[in-house]
Amino acid sequence: MSNSKNGMVGLLYARKVVSAFFVGILLLLSSIFFFNNVNAEVFKATAYCSCNKCCDKDPSDKWYGITATGKRARWGTVAVDKKVIKLGSKLRIKGFPNTIFRAEDVGGAIKGNRIDVWFPSHREALKFGVKRIVVQRVING
Ligand SMILES: [Zn+2]
Repeated sequence: MSNSKNGMVGLLYARKVVSAFFVGILLLLSSIFFFNNVNAEVFKATAYCSCNKCCDKDPSDKWYGITATGKRARWGTVAVDKKVIKLGSKLRIKGFPNTIFRAEDVGGAIKGNRIDVWFPSHREALKFGVKRIVVQRVING
């Protein structure tokens, strides 16, 4: 009788240890997830290129293709609201794992949680359209 009672207690104890173990794992995983995503923010993204329609600058203009920071627009250039993301910041955008984006430009319509992604052609910019994207700040400029 006392043996089976001890067995029961042992079993209950083992179940507690097992459940504590799983709760611990769960907490660990959720904290990793939280810390990895702590800088993730949702932005409304559009796209632009250096063309006349997007930037109001003719290819003959000496500032054609030049961003607000004076750097030439190239893949990875994004326009931001500098009150939200400082110019010079480096960003990751979910869906583009191989690119570190650079906040180098601004735009009249880019206010608040908006981001404008530069593309080399107007056709590609149109194809991107408007989407919600997850942005993670890598370096604050
Ligand atoms: Zn364009």
